[in-house]
Amino acid sequence: MDFDVVVIGGGSAGYAAASTAQSAGAKVAIVDKGPLGGLCILRGCMPTKAILRSSDIFSLMRRAKEFGLSVQNSSADLAAINDRKNQLIAEFASYRVEQLNDPRFTLIQENASFISQNALKVGGKTLTAKNFIIATGSSIAEFPVNGLAESGYLTSDDILELRQAPESMIVLGAGPVAVELAQFFCRIGTRTTLIQRSEHILSKGDEDLARPVEARFREEGMEVFTTTKLLRVEKSGAIRTVFFTHDGKEKSATAETILQALGRKPNIDGLNLSAAGVSTNRGRVEVDQKMRTNIPHIYAVGDVNGLHEIVHIAIEQGEVAAHNATQKESRQFDDRLKTSVTFTDPPVASVGLSEKECRSESIPYLTASYPFNDHGKSMCLGETHGHVKLLCAPDSGEIIGAHIVGPEAGEMIHQMITLMHYKGTVHDLIKIPHYHPTLSEILTYPAEKLSKKL
Ligand SMILES: Cc1cc2nc3c(=O)[nH]c(=O)nc-3n(C[C@H](O)[C@H](O)[C@H](O)COP(=O)(O)OP(=O)(O)OC[C@H]3O[C@@H](n4cnc5c(N)ncnc54)[C@H](O)[C@@H]3O)c2cc1C
Repeated sequence: MDFDVVVIGGGSAGYAAASTAQSAGAKVAIVDKGPLGGLCILRGCMPTKAILRSSDIFSLMRRAKEFGLSVQNSSADLAAINDRKNQLIAEFASYRVEQLNDPRFTLIQENASFISQNALKVGGKTLTAKNFIIATGSSIAEFPVNGLAESGYLTSDDILELRQAPESMIVLGAGPVAVELAQFFCRIGTRTTLIQRSEHILSKGDEDLARPVEARFREEGMEVFTTTKLLRVEKSGAIRTVFFTHDGKEKSATAETILQALGRKPNIDGLNLSAAGVSTNRGRVEVDQKMRTNIPHIYAVGDVNGLHEIVHIAIEQGEVAAHNATQKESRQFDDRLKTSVTFTDPPVASVGLSEKECRSESIPYLTASYPFNDHGKSMCLGETHGHVKLLCAPDSGEIIGAHIVGPEAGEMIHQMITLMHYKGTVHDLIKIPHYHPTLSEILTYPAEKLSKKL
């Protein structure tokens, strides 16, 4: 064999896998067709969070009067916003490229495709290995909406290149990517309409977490339609019209641009998985908790297995797969602390179980919540949308889920992740000192309610 471990894909999951395997003493190659850097850095987390910072500041500038301030002649310049983002991304990407070029690994910049269970075709060559870790990520999926492809649409990749904000935009979809970008464009002055099939936006999570975000969107002038069914799209001149049903009636929305943010699909085209006998399910490479596919020495990590398309989870999965490929004792991926953050304003952050999950899996729980509009620090900040919610086991009081929709949710959730890591209870949370006045102390209020109930 040429290598102990060959990692296909050098994004977040692949780099973590390669680094872990090499540290365990394995001879490792990374095959990546490029561009090097991975989704998170090039077109995902980092560029979107960089541009959201501009729209968040712009939104605060519009509220200047509320805080006794005045701002004159404010405007948003998408070209300048994207220039700032490009500068940051170039820095992040060059660091990742440096890491991939580390002589600890053999980096091969080619397309990879299986020839058999132990061999890959890489460029014109054959590469053999004892173990393979597939970490090829995901790409934007196409959806069969009548007339959508013909009318033309933008994707999350395209909007990162725009130099001028469109006058109007219809956003299809309401997952994290869709809602973050919808609010970005709405805030920089694009007339924005969001159309979503489910009853509420961010439909994977609990409804009560989505409603404050929808309310904020509407206050900011966005039109939000939920419980819809897309019928067709038509284009006339420069205007696109989306027809859909809503409240049992046919409706339509028109705009200059459409942002298609309906979802992504795992990158398996061209991998020739059948030559290795690797099973897929609806386009996802199927894995167990050890990140193993049905072929024991072939693993799949990150977006390509479709379990949870989040960077730190892709990294953890990469580490688990590399550990199992190189060590005798095996490790399992632990999803008890599954976390997600949506960087809207208000942001939404969750760790552990949702009420939806508890109900569908018949897991008993107690819950309590507390609103930000009754919390001193959030009132001082003028950020009163949303609430915090805790779920705990009815016998022990162990916290099994924590959810925040409100200011700094993405930061505050880490207090709960830490507590849950140590299997903390609502009684523990009350005992831990909290500085006053801080946003973090709001989490002790539902904990007090639950402690009393228990
Ligand atoms: C707009 C947007 C915003 C996001 N924001 C966040 C966020 O705020 N927080 C968060 O946690 N997550 C976010 N995500 C999700 C996150 O970016 C992904 O979950 C994560 O980057 C996936 O990492 P990965 O290693 O699985 O794949 P990738 O980083 O995509 O790496 C896959 C690599 O495989 C290579 N490759 C593919 N096919 C082949 C082949 N056949 N041969 C060789 N090489 C190949 C590619 O070139 C690529 O380098 C966001 C995603 C998007 C789209």
